[in-house]
Amino acid sequence: MATIFSKIINKEIPSDMVYQDEYVTAFRDIEPQAPVHILIVPNKEIPTVNDIQEDDEQLVGKMFTAARKIAADEGVAADGYRLLINCNQHGGQEVFHLHMHLFGGRPLGPMLLNR
Ligand code: 5GP
Repeated sequence: MATIFSKIINKEIPSDMVYQDEYVTAFRDIEPQAPVHILIVPNKEIPTVNDIQEDDEQLVGKMFTAARKIAADEGVAADGYRLLINCNQHGGQEVFHLHMHLFGGRPLGPMLLNR
């Protein structure tokens, strides 16, 4: 199912895009939770981690390669950053097009678990 992220990937609606290739697109989160908050999204519409197939393994790898490049470009690679993927209701997923959050630019503290 197409979400707003497909429209961003296809440049039908504006975003602050920082990276795009034939596999993935990355753009700044509209409600940043850290000085650097970027969403890394496969161009292919995969709703959740639950929907990843073996055929998608190369694509998932491309998400991590993009994360490494973007972290370097954003100047957060050396200090460090956090990659996060939410899945479904308990994971807090709001947009059902697979995406990896890249947070950085300040100490992020312990894992974001509400107990
Ligand atoms: P999730 O909770 O699904 O892991 O995260 C979805 C993220 O997408 C949220 O952090 C939210 O701020 C971001 N987001 C939702 N709609 C838009 C949009 O139209 N543009 C951008 N750049 N980010 C969005």
